[in-house]
Amino acid sequence: MAVERRPPIPPGPWLVVGLERSGAACARALWARGEPVIGVDSGEPSQAEALRHEGIEISTASDGVEELERARAVVRSPGVPNEAAVLVAARAAGIPIYSELELGWRMLESPFVAVTGTNGKTTTVELLGEIWRAAGRPVAVAGNVGTAVSSLVGTIGPETTVICEASSFQLEDSVAFAPELAVLLNIEPDHLDRHGDFDAYRRAKLELFAFQGADDTAIGSEAMLALAGGDGRRVRISVDAATEADVELRDGLICWRGTALLAASEVRLRGAHNLENALCAAAAALSAGIEAEAVASGLRSFAGVEHRLEEIGSSGGVLWVNDSKATNVASAVAALAAFQQPVLLIAGGQAKGQEFLTLAEAAAASVRAAFLIGEDAGLVAAAFDGLVECSRCESLEAAIAAAAAAAEGGEVVLLSPACASFDQFPGGFEQRGDEFRQIVQALPGFLGT
Ligand code: ADP
Repeated sequence: MAVERRPPIPPGPWLVVGLERSGAACARALWARGEPVIGVDSGEPSQAEALRHEGIEISTASDGVEELERARAVVRSPGVPNEAAVLVAARAAGIPIYSELELGWRMLESPFVAVTGTNGKTTTVELLGEIWRAAGRPVAVAGNVGTAVSSLVGTIGPETTVICEASSFQLEDSVAFAPELAVLLNIEPDHLDRHGDFDAYRRAKLELFAFQGADDTAIGSEAMLALAGGDGRRVRISVDAATEADVELRDGLICWRGTALLAASEVRLRGAHNLENALCAAAAALSAGIEAEAVASGLRSFAGVEHRLEEIGSSGGVLWVNDSKATNVASAVAALAAFQQPVLLIAGGQAKGQEFLTLAEAAAASVRAAFLIGEDAGLVAAAFDGLVECSRCESLEAAIAAAAAAAEGGEVVLLSPACASFDQFPGGFEQRGDEFRQIVQALPGFLGT
């Protein structure tokens, strides 16, 4: 994968807005290059003192508008909304705004594989990491929720491939971000509360391709690539036997340009959606020059990521599955499709502006009973009305107890909430999933997988 020269970092002083993991990493990387840096945060981020100690000027409990007067460029953390006063003021003053992702990319000389999509990013980047390791190639997996890309600056050399997940929040300020390989997994409604509407959300995701040149590669299904702009070479995947593609399914085999890599049944991840993720990962790795044997070996060995259809174990013949990361309707629908047996579904939380009719329709086919939690349980219940039997539960613990009492041998209890978790779990989907796992493991007769 040839790495072309990337655009230089424009001159500072820099205003870094938001100082949690990615903002703090970016402030440090710019500072280490000798740039003047001012960091601001509307709250009291945990790293503020450490950053001050390193010599960086930091203002906390500040909207950053005053500090902007001394800045020539802004870096925005993914969590900072478009309407934040400092971003509005920067736009009005013609001060450029960059994402942490793009600056990290500009500061690094490594080949970049960036993965976006509504669902499956973490699964796919971790799978790609597994494939690179199977090939014995140096790799760093970074992005949205894990390691910040700019924290890699100074710690890896140009021989290390960076595989990063890129969320819509990180892509909406792209100025020239052009990864050598860009993957678009899918686009479904999500984060409408933050982006305003589906179109704005989709536009943000497609920024991933906009600046790609003819030496770069764009990867996805025909439908996804039809949306992508830019000049990147197209590498197609297809899970539909009737459609030809570079990576495709033929007679149950995953094939790369006509040559079989492995049987689809050898991929350990459950569900058709994960097969699509696997095909995208294979296409990315093969396009990057990874040997077919290493690709097959990575696809065979990868066991998935916790909180994503994570099989915790069983009690009394009932399988318990933690899919807490299903924070939107599309991911919960995909989860339901991954099970043949009857499902008892635990769902609900914060709706984020979504509608639940498609979930209700999917649930009508396979969900025997639903246990609803969280502040928008009423919205889910209204959509499920007449299609799925529902009970409203005070807490996750109560939902687990009710599901345990109702479940029969051979059934699945699936936590796949289709909603965000912050109303009941300040620690997010991880806290929700950890609590689920803990309570389930304490059920009488529990057997781990
Ligand atoms: P992301 O990083 O994009 O949020 P994850 O890999 O963390 O993606 O998965 C998020 C949720 O979406 C999980 O519940 C997972 O089972 C589900 N999921 C993963 N891949 C897909 C896909 N291709 N389509 C729909 N849902 C998916």
